[in-house]
Amino acid sequence: MTTNQALPFRPDLLAGQAAIVTGGGTGLGRGIALALAQVGAKVAVVSRKMENLTAVANEINAAGGTAVAIQCDVRDPDAVEAMVAEAEERLGPISILINNAGATFTVDAERLSPNGFRAVVEIDTFGTFYCSQAFGKRAIARGTGGAIVNITSTSPSTGNPGRIHGGAGKAGVESMTKTLAVEWGPHQIRVNSVAPGVVPTHGSDAGTAAIGKDEAERSASVPLGRVGTPRDIAWATVFLVSDAASYISGCCLIVDGARWLSTGRGKED
Ligand code: NAP
Repeated sequence: MTTNQALPFRPDLLAGQAAIVTGGGTGLGRGIALALAQVGAKVAVVSRKMENLTAVANEINAAGGTAVAIQCDVRDPDAVEAMVAEAEERLGPISILINNAGATFTVDAERLSPNGFRAVVEIDTFGTFYCSQAFGKRAIARGTGGAIVNITSTSPSTGNPGRIHGGAGKAGVESMTKTLAVEWGPHQIRVNSVAPGVVPTHGSDAGTAAIGKDEAERSASVPLGRVGTPRDIAWATVFLVSDAASYISGCCLIVDGARWLSTGRGKED
């Protein structure tokens, strides 16, 4: 796939491999799908809204890569099973899974409805389990190994005031990351997570707005002096699925400019 942007990795880094990116039609998932394609992977982008998925797949195919769009709600285990089967039929054996689909909204815990709590935990934790199982059982049966990256957040370490559902969902995913790294290590399936910090996307707007009233204020809350970009998250993810990380499993790579360590305190504190 041709690109005008400088690549931090060789363009054939993942040549011959095929990947699934859930939530690949927007935000961080779109960035990850583009980056995987830029280093040679074939990509299936997966979510509920076909128009977003088709736009990303078209972008990749137009630039000379290979991508397909597959509609799937990751909360439905039968739909996930059918999605992975379709991805393998169209792209060949899948060796990379990026569990990126997620959703959250801000509400005080005492006012959050049971349905609101359930919907978010079902996307994060249940969805990640369904996709990982559908991917893992095939890779185990083939004996081909593989790599999973779960997109989580820093909230399993810090809590998630105002978004108790999102924090609980991501904590479940972090636990599964460690569990599957051990269970599936003997099958040469590596399982890691990437925890993004503040990265403005449509889905993170409400959370981002709460951090500062404008870009300057939000950037000042990050020790590295800027908020993140989808490319920051994408290249960290590519690193983890590549051979450069072949002895890394069960790890959480925090990609947040050291924000979670600063507890909001600047140099003047
Ligand atoms: P986003 O643009 O809203 O992306 C979320 C994606 O998840 C969408 O493409 C959405 O697609 C998909 N999705 C939601 N529910 C789904 C379902 N039931 N089945 C399948 N796909 C579903 O927001 P984002 O910021 O890029 O978030 C991506 C991931 O990063 C999320 O897991 C989020 O929690 C995590 N994260 C983001 C930040 C940040 O600052 N941006 C920080 C920490 C963690 P459809 O609507 O088409 O289904």
